[in-house]
Amino acid sequence: MPITKEEASKIKKHLLTQLDNFPEDKRSQIEEQINSMTTEQVETFIEQNKLTHLGGQCIFCSIVANKAPSYKIAEDKKNIAILELNPLNKGHTLIVPKEHLEEIPESTKTFAQEISKKLQNKFNPNEIQIKEIEIMNHALIEVIPIYGDETERRQATEEELKTLQEEIRTREKIKIKKKSEPEEIDIPILPMRIP
Ligand SMILES: [Zn+2]
Repeated sequence: MPITKEEASKIKKHLLTQLDNFPEDKRSQIEEQINSMTTEQVETFIEQNKLTHLGGQCIFCSIVANKAPSYKIAEDKKNIAILELNPLNKGHTLIVPKEHLEEIPESTKTFAQEISKKLQNKFNPNEIQIKEIEIMNHALIEVIPIYGDETERRQATEEELKTLQEEIRTREKIKIKKKSEPEEIDIPILPMRIP
């Protein structure tokens, strides 16, 4: 999937927003690596991380349309909350507005607060970070419980995600429609593997 220079720089920009998730002594090195990536290298990175099947389509729009699998933990009329596949820690959630917008709507901020409270009650972290981010021009909110023992993001196993999803949904008695989902596909939310 050839990408334009502009798309490549957006992807790089997104990767740079995740630097905080790395140990401090490695950040400048990783930052340098990301900045020096050519458009071709970004393209290879996308391919290696199985982002190719997107065919230029926004992954979050696909998730909202149930065309891509996700671990949904809550939903309202205008938003869904899904588990991050490469979490910093337990309960790391993405709030996805159902509409593809470049700016976060108020309803999404409110929904993020609700999810944040839910995670606070459930896991009792020291604090919860709420960050506005943007992937493939789809504005999102990241809700990240902070327990004080954070190291770096890692890929969660399917088992972990399922268990966590059950745990969050069951205790809160959230009713969410089961959907049939292809189990074998990885959701490509830009995994932090720097080539
Ligand atoms: Zn979208």
